[in-house]
Amino acid sequence: MITSSTDTQSNGLAIARSLAGAVPRSFWLDQPDAPDPLPALAGGVTADLAVIGGGFSGLWTALLARERYPELDVVLVEAKTVGWAASGRNGGFCSASLTHGIGNGLERFGDEMPLLEKLGEQNLREIGETIARLGIDCDFRPVGEIGFATADWQLDGLDEAAVASRQLGREVTVLDAEGARAELNSPRWRGALKHTTGNALIEPGRLAWGLRRACLDAGVRIYEHTPVTALSRSDGTSKLGVTLKTPYGSVRAGRVALAAGVPGGSLLRRISAYVIPVWDYVLMTEPLSAAQIESLGWRDGRGASDLGNQFHYFRPTRDNRVLWGGYDAVYYNGGRIRAEHETRPATFTALARHFFDTFPQLEGVSFTHAWGGVIDTCSRFCAFFGTAHAGQVAYAAGYTGLGVGATRFAAQVLLDKLYQPGDPERERLSLVNSKPLPFPPEPLRSGVIQATRASIARADRNGGRRDAWLRLLDRLGLGFDS
Ligand SMILES: Cc1cc2nc3c(=O)[nH]c(=O)nc-3n(C[C@H](O)[C@H](O)[C@H](O)COP(=O)(O)OP(=O)(O)OC[C@H]3O[C@@H](n4cnc5c(N)ncnc54)[C@H](O)[C@@H]3O)c2cc1C
Repeated sequence: MITSSTDTQSNGLAIARSLAGAVPRSFWLDQPDAPDPLPALAGGVTADLAVIGGGFSGLWTALLARERYPELDVVLVEAKTVGWAASGRNGGFCSASLTHGIGNGLERFGDEMPLLEKLGEQNLREIGETIARLGIDCDFRPVGEIGFATADWQLDGLDEAAVASRQLGREVTVLDAEGARAELNSPRWRGALKHTTGNALIEPGRLAWGLRRACLDAGVRIYEHTPVTALSRSDGTSKLGVTLKTPYGSVRAGRVALAAGVPGGSLLRRISAYVIPVWDYVLMTEPLSAAQIESLGWRDGRGASDLGNQFHYFRPTRDNRVLWGGYDAVYYNGGRIRAEHETRPATFTALARHFFDTFPQLEGVSFTHAWGGVIDTCSRFCAFFGTAHAGQVAYAAGYTGLGVGATRFAAQVLLDKLYQPGDPERERLSLVNSKPLPFPPEPLRSGVIQATRASIARADRNGGRRDAWLRLLDRLGLGFDS
């Protein structure tokens, strides 16, 4: 198609207008009923278990600790407010997958996959049951998920992926272009892979706040605006052998669960080699009209993505908005996490352009929120675990963009490592006991990552063909993803 420069300019202006009123905050956290912050820690306290980090990993760890070991006295310290980081900024896809998808899992954990899928399904089911039992109003909807092919090369692997998924117990259907458009109306679809099991949609901010409430009700003491500035082993013989320093106090604890994402590396250096901060960006539309909703024909409100290497994810909300995120996975050289990276107009503009290309029937719709967040990315794309300080500290990190559900599984693993194994099958998993390959140190790290990003974008432009660099990384089992 040939567009005149006037068309391009007016299109560019329309996109700028769609974004101009968007506030730079996560829609999920920008709610009138957001809870008031809890007081920061002042002075010294003790606890049997101290949890660092009030994202999903830390919240589930604290809550499950109280459920598994009611005698434990548990403290949770959060640098800002509960859920403010990745846990309150994500797409709200709560997947059963513990391995960042079946394809990645089969490549890395082969024979373990039937067990990993079984444990993942059980984890998702128990998340749903917990939300219902605790009455958390986070719109948990176990609707499955659907991946749309937008180019012919993406159709190639659909049948194979469907067979592999079915062998692992998933309910999957391969759809042609017409079938795909009957699920969600876009002229861009060439086909789709529809999973009716294995994923739920949730509202992440409300889930974090609900878990916070549940922790408080269970007797967990939570301190917000309390960054841990140092973690040290105070005394090998004491029952309270680990000390956490905070700006105006300290926690002496018997055991520590470090659930702080990438920043956890500043407290335990060994984590830093394995995780990098990759920024992911998201738009949220205004509520759509009844006619606009009808024009989408979004069957079952299923969470969706497209199937490029640089993929978008998208989902409806209960107040008839559409969340649209992904595509650019940005690594800022040096890997520092800065507040200014939370907005990125160039990425928001690209995302909005892709949105209107995908859903031309929504022309004129505006975005009310545009935000970014840090994804703790590791080279195997799924969480890894470890212990430090003679087993008194356990950590989990590296969910790489699929941690909403997996954080609860990780919380169980942290408690297994700190106390007794809760499940012999879980304890033996190589997912639980192995580490990803480390990233090289800076400045080589930045060079390697930017080269990989460029190759991934090139592969999407070249019919999915992976260049020599990506093929080498594939052979080494190394990757870069959001
Ligand atoms: C834009 C975006 C979209 C995503 N979409 C999805 C999705 O749809 N589905 C999915 O499964 N996953 C998604 N993810 C990933 C998912 O959100 C994360 O895997 C998950 O929330 C990780 O939870 P966490 O608790 O480990 O980390 P976080 O939510 O990052 O929480 C870590 C917490 O630790 C605190 N902390 C750090 N350092 C300290 C310290 N020194 N002292 C005290 N506290 C500290 C931080 O303040 C933070 O609150 C997305 C992520 C992003 C950013």
